[in-house]
Parts: sequence; structure tokens; C-alpha cells
Amino acid sequence: MAALADFTYYRGRVAQAAILRGLGISAGDHVAIQAFTCSAVAEGVLSLGAQPIYVDISPDSCTMDPADLAAKLTPKTRAVIVQHTFGIPADFPAIEAVATARGLPLVEDCAHAIGSTIAGRPVGEWGVAAFYSFEASKPVFAGIGGSARVNDPALAARMASQSSDFSEPSLVRQAQILTMYLGFRLAYRPATYWTVRSLYRRAIRWGLIPSAYHTVTVEQSRPVTEFRFGLGRVQQRIVRRELATLPDRIAHRNRIASAYRRRIGGADARPVLVPPDAEPVYGRFPLFTPRKTELLRLAPEHRVELSDWYATPVHPLTGHALAAAGYRPGSCPRAEQLTSEIVSLPTGPLVDDAQVDRAVRLFESL
Ligand SMILES: *Cc1c(COP(=O)(O)O)cnc(C)c1O
Repeated sequence: MAALADFTYYRGRVAQAAILRGLGISAGDHVAIQAFTCSAVAEGVLSLGAQPIYVDISPDSCTMDPADLAAKLTPKTRAVIVQHTFGIPADFPAIEAVATARGLPLVEDCAHAIGSTIAGRPVGEWGVAAFYSFEASKPVFAGIGGSARVNDPALAARMASQSSDFSEPSLVRQAQILTMYLGFRLAYRPATYWTVRSLYRRAIRWGLIPSAYHTVTVEQSRPVTEFRFGLGRVQQRIVRRELATLPDRIAHRNRIASAYRRRIGGADARPVLVPPDAEPVYGRFPLFTPRKTELLRLAPEHRVELSDWYATPVHPLTGHALAAAGYRPGSCPRAEQLTSEIVSLPTGPLVDDAQVDRAVRLFESL
């Protein structure tokens, strides 16, 4: 699986936990992550008994603020996770300057970012390691899955020695994931997104397919067996097939994102800041808007797949679950503000010109 996968795991968060464990992180340690993230990232930290420390995002961006990182670091902080949100590279060199001064390793969250570059060098090659997710809505989809790319040989050796701790999921579980994968491939079109989403949620409620949101942060008492699984052989095969067409799909994402950028704009739709030297490949194309609620209300009738990611600083957690994930309301004001201002559009292989036209009309309808 070439550059994305020195090691494969059951999910992205499992890959993340395996990297952190390889770095020697354990109970009581702190790991810095950005707010405006998903609960998977918090879970990857909490699964080790470690504590996430939330860092705010930079102004006009969706990625970590190096100045706030410097302010939030604690004596117990042992690593920093750098998330390339929506495929937009974080300002890695500035974050690295803060982390290196404290001797902290950087791990890249490439769940949305395959093909993006900083100064011509791909994300995933900058940190000691990077992790990927193969969930629905990620650039490579295999049902459920994750991988780690490891750039530090000593870390790779430690992770290799820990690999026998991960077992293959049962064939029943692999078949369940395959069914979900095939069902999604069959049913999903950007224009039918809202219908498929409601069916998918019903299937989760009926226990037919596993939810992405049910592990440590939400139910602390639940045994987290998922963190002991590797990637099933069925899913491995799907990932290999998907990677074979990756260059074409990256070119497609770039073409769709530039059409959105060219055709959608104005006060109701501002693009997100891209750091100097960075070339994103958008996993989704995000826009700042003061009219998020209205856009989301109008999107189904326009048949536009418009996402509300992230609707909370640690999506989709609120209230008690958000507190259980270690997030203190008010601690990352820019990230909190952003949750009410960001929508995003799909850039995947099934987005065609008609779909871009629909998105343009949705924004024009305001
Ligand atoms: C999806 C995602 C992950 C990992 O998700 P898994 O469901 O564990 O594969 C990690 N980080 C971000 C930002 C994500 O969106």
C-alpha cells in the first residue's frame, strides 16, 4: 500500500493510538490535539489512558495555531497531533518550531489529506509518523479502516514489535463491513446524500452496522476491543484497489475544488486560509459562511451534499460527553466560533459538473 501504510489497523484512531503507544505514551501523559476535530482523535488519546490537551485554531483557518500550542503545552505533554483539516495542510513548520523547542514528536492526522503538499513535500512525510482513515467520506474508502505511515525507523521498529497485540477482526465483522461498503457504493451519490444518510443512521440504530461514535469518550465503561484489531484481509484488498486509482481521483478533487472556488464566493461564502507554501488536495471543500443554518436547511431540496463538519469542537460530542473527552468550553474560542460558520462540499469521484452547478445554485439562492 505504498506510502500510506507501513502498518494497517482497524480504524484511523487505532492507527493513531498505535503510533502514540510506540512513542511511549501511556496513562497520565498529555497529547496536544486541535479543537475543531472529531471524537475519533480524542478517543485515540483516551484509549491509552492519556489526556487530550485542546489547542485552538489559527484565525481564518481550520488548523492548529502554533501560538496557542505554545500557550497550552503542559509539563506532561508528550506529543502533538497535527491535523490537516479538509486536506488543507496545517502550518507544519511553525508548529514544529514550537514542538521541537520542547523536544516533542509531531504526528500527522492525514484522515482528510492525501496528496496535499507543503513546500512541494507531501503531508504525511513531515512528522515522525502519520495516520490515515478509510471510513466513508475519507479520500480512500474501504468501509472502515486505518493505516500508519512511519518516518522514524526506531518508532517503526517499536510498532513492529507491538504488532502481535493486534488481531484480525472476525470474518463475520469483516463481512458486515464489506456489506456496508458495498451498500454505500451502490446507494451513495452526492445528489442522494440526504436519503442515504438517513438510511445509514437507521441501520446503525438497528445494530446492522457499527457506528463511528460509540467508544471511549461517549461510553467510558465500554470495553474498547476495537483498539486491539488490525485491518481485515477483505478491507486490505479494497484499500489496495482504491489506491491504484488514487492519482486520477486527486486530479478530479483538484478540478472540482477549483470550480467551487471560482464559482462560489462573496460575503456568504469565504474560502478558508491556506498557509504559505501549501497546496491542498481538498478531501472536502470548506467555506466560511454567516448563514450555515439556512444553507443546511436548503441543501436537501437543492440535492446538494452539504456537510456541517464540525458542529462541535470535538464532533459530535456535546455536554457531558464533550466534558468526558476533556474539552473545557471556552478554552478554544476560535474553534467554537467556527462550528457555527463552516460548511463543506464534496470533492469525491462521483461529484460531476451538474453537482457543482447545484452547489452554485444553492449559494445563489440565499
Ligand atoms: C475520520 C477521522 C479520523 C479517524 O477516523 P476512524 O473512524 O477512526 O478511521 C481521524 N481524524 C480525523 C480528523 C477524521 O476525520
